[in-house]
Amino acid sequence: MLSKLICVTVGPGTGVRDDTQGHVRARHRARTWSWLVACGWCLIATVATMGHTYVVNAKSPNASDRNPGTRQAPFASISRAAKVATAGDTVIVQPGVYREDVQLTHSGRPGAPIRFEVADVALHDIEGSRPRIGFTEKGEAREVECDFIAGCDGFHGVSRASIPADKITLFDRDYPFGWLGILAEAPPTEDELVYTHHERGFALLTMRTPELSRLYLQCARDDDIAHWPDERIWEEFRLRSAGEGRKLCEGPIVQKGITDMRSFVVEPMQYGRLFLAGDAAHIVPPTGAKGMNLAIADVRVLARALTAFYKSGRTDMLESYSRVCLRRVWKVQRFSWWATQLLHRFEDDNPFDQRRQLADIDYVTSSRAGSLNWAENYVGLPMEWD
Ligand SMILES: Cc1cc2nc3c(=O)[nH]c(=O)nc-3n(C[C@H](O)[C@H](O)[C@H](O)COP(=O)(O)OP(=O)(O)OC[C@H]3O[C@@H](n4cnc5c(N)ncnc54)[C@H](O)[C@@H]3O)c2cc1C
Repeated sequence: MLSKLICVTVGPGTGVRDDTQGHVRARHRARTWSWLVACGWCLIATVATMGHTYVVNAKSPNASDRNPGTRQAPFASISRAAKVATAGDTVIVQPGVYREDVQLTHSGRPGAPIRFEVADVALHDIEGSRPRIGFTEKGEAREVECDFIAGCDGFHGVSRASIPADKITLFDRDYPFGWLGILAEAPPTEDELVYTHHERGFALLTMRTPELSRLYLQCARDDDIAHWPDERIWEEFRLRSAGEGRKLCEGPIVQKGITDMRSFVVEPMQYGRLFLAGDAAHIVPPTGAKGMNLAIADVRVLARALTAFYKSGRTDMLESYSRVCLRRVWKVQRFSWWATQLLHRFEDDNPFDQRRQLADIDYVTSSRAGSLNWAENYVGLPMEWD
């Protein structure tokens, strides 16, 4: 998704060459989009030609796979859209629960390739003027030559690992607990998010749609989801988040899992012609709900810098990418760490720590200055380069 945001912002540009074929394979209008080629069919399809747009909306009363797939007459299933979509098309999937195995019927074409399950992705010559992305597709080695590479491949991707270890510094902090998250077919319990500080541990009630809720419980870091049958999960939510007359809206749990909590930053966020963005460059504990926001803010800066480069040959904005992003990243790290230590139970906390925590929560909820501080950071700090 981050790659797509960069593309949409930067707009049309240059070309992409496949050296294994020895000829120009894909004339995308921006070399900077090269990373997409290895990243996903929907991104490629959207950027390359801006073709047809199909809408899937299982919840629409008009939804049917016999429809043309428009907003007024949407498809009921993603599979139907995957069947008719061709290179250059965009599929918009409206919120809902789709239980399907999706297979694409059509392939890409020169200029709008679609590649699945490429392996051995590796970045080459990132410090040079023509970095390359190598990968294996159907047993064949391939390469994509780029002007720049946007490393938007998440925490476990190859981008950050491609930078020599002595060229970057890693900063991190682990937390001694995890989050058990569920997606439930239940309306939100409240119109607002509910953050709970409880002696049994933190809990959070959030929502996805009027019919789907996303809820989280603090749990042991090494906990096993197999130990959490649905009834135990709801019982724990009732204990932590009901109360004060609140009646929890419950429903079938359609997804559940346990996530580690971590703070992590890499400095700098660029090396040569590789620019890291999103979780590839930093992770925040989800308490502040900032990870995706931070990722989007990164690519916004990168897209502006790339636009300046392609429009006027300016390189100063690209050169300051890491410095500009890190100023915001560290403020968001601070907020996310602070919100985490404010709301969770730490096993080694003593009664002093617990009283201090309650005083901090009281300050946030009763002081205008305290609540403004939370609100400013939670809603989001000003964007750079407006
Ligand atoms: C429990 C939880 C709750 C959260 N809640 C919020 C919230 O409320 N608000 C918020 O802002 N953030 C939230 N986040 C954080 C947010 O989900 C992440 O920060 C965000 O998804 C990071 O986006 P990304 O694109 O950088 O990385 P990712 O989402 O990890 O995406 C990277 C993509 O790159 C792909 N990829 C990797 N390697 C390759 C390859 N070689 N070839 C092709 N593709 C590749 C991956 O498959 C993946 O699709 C939450 C996180 C968690 C764990």
